[in-house]
Amino acid sequence: MSQMNLPFKLEVPRKCDLCEQFQTQVIYDAVVKHSGGAWAWMCQSCWEQHALWKRLGTGIGQKYIKNAHGMWEKVPYVHASKGN
Ligand SMILES: [Zn+2]
Repeated sequence: MSQMNLPFKLEVPRKCDLCEQFQTQVIYDAVVKHSGGAWAWMCQSCWEQHALWKRLGTGIGQKYIKNAHGMWEKVPYVHASKGN
């Protein structure tokens, strides 16, 4: 079996851990409210309802969007103020 290096990563389907829908455009990896600090993949609406923080940042949450090549790209953080 020959192994070839793929030139780029193929599409990775991401499922929302909360509503279990596959997401095609946007997904968040964020801390879930009332979970004791558990992280989950969330769709936009689950993120709005269930994310502990409505912000992005290290240790807070990440947002990924699918680019034109079908790859998930992390959205750069909008400068998040510390605190809360
Ligand atoms: Zn969801």
